[in-house]
Amino acid sequence: MSILSAFPSRVRSRIAEQRPLAPLTTLRVGGNAQFYLEARGLRDVCDALEACRAANMPLHVIGGGSNLLIADTGVPGLVLNLKQMKGVEVFGQKVLVQAGAALNTLVATCAGAGIAGPEGLAGIPGSVGGALAMNAGGRYAEIGRFVDCVTWITPENRVQYLYREEIDFQYRHSSLTRGIVLQAVIGGATGNAAQLKERARCIHAEKLAVQPYSAHSAGCAFKNPKGQSAGKLIDLAGCKGLQVGSARVSEQHGNFVVNLGGATADDVTGLMSLVKERVRTAHGVELSPEVQIWPRVAA
Ligand SMILES: Cc1cc2nc3c(=O)[nH]c(=O)nc-3n(C[C@H](O)[C@H](O)[C@H](O)COP(=O)(O)OP(=O)(O)OC[C@H]3O[C@@H](n4cnc5c(N)ncnc54)[C@H](O)[C@@H]3O)c2cc1C
Repeated sequence: MSILSAFPSRVRSRIAEQRPLAPLTTLRVGGNAQFYLEARGLRDVCDALEACRAANMPLHVIGGGSNLLIADTGVPGLVLNLKQMKGVEVFGQKVLVQAGAALNTLVATCAGAGIAGPEGLAGIPGSVGGALAMNAGGRYAEIGRFVDCVTWITPENRVQYLYREEIDFQYRHSSLTRGIVLQAVIGGATGNAAQLKERARCIHAEKLAVQPYSAHSAGCAFKNPKGQSAGKLIDLAGCKGLQVGSARVSEQHGNFVVNLGGATADDVTGLMSLVKERVRTAHGVELSPEVQIWPRVAA
């Protein structure tokens, strides 16, 4: 009996087998998802979870794929995409946003509604769910700061409502990676819409100027060690321009690994290992990956 029989017929017909994942990531590398489903709503998410549990099959949630490195051998189990769950609604000084909405849509909505703070996240690709899971941010803001509450599915498969203080937001990590974020209420201070839009535009432009934004990458490959810049350490270790296969350390920003075209995941992980080794030798610092590797492999 096929493993697909664990899924109710409503969703079974929409499940793709051996779906290439590379096009769903900004790095554009990696193999196929064994099974792939685009959820249309909470019912699909619950059905998928239930079926995966019954079939003892792993489930992975993909957002905008902007922080993912998919192994060349692909991903066993079900990859669930929430991009159709993308509602955004303003009520007063708050925004209710679904996990599949683009982070940049949330940023623009907040700025337009005069909600100050989230404009500091301008230019970060990906979805709201991914941003909350990763506590996305940079020098101007981190998304965790603006969270009022989140609705998620817990690792025990319960739908639960969490206030911000119940969520562990850390540097490029949050406790939400253990479950599935469905939606969030985002707030901020009261601001002037025109000024906030202008600030968002400037912050986005600043990112475009210093990062290889149009190249295929997964953003910063490594986390910044405490009090240090990974990009600077990589640069000082002489890694800019280092290449393995078709993966290269960007000349523009040392912490970006770019796919020159046709790079494999092995090229990328091989290059990341080389960079780690050089930084360890040059500075005695151990870099750890920021990019999420599916399924987990050593980098
Ligand atoms: C050019 C470029 C610039 C970038 N600049 C920045 C930056 O300035 N700051 C920054 O923080 N990041 C940056 N990134 C990295 C990336 O954009 C962020 O980490 C982003 O928040 C990831 O969101 P995503 O939807 O693409 O997540 P994905 O890459 O799809 O997934 C990342 C992780 O989040 C999990 N996830 C996704 N959706 C959900 C959900 N609904 N519930 C639970 N878990 C979920 C996934 O399972 C995975 O573990 C950059 C990337 C690129 C390509």
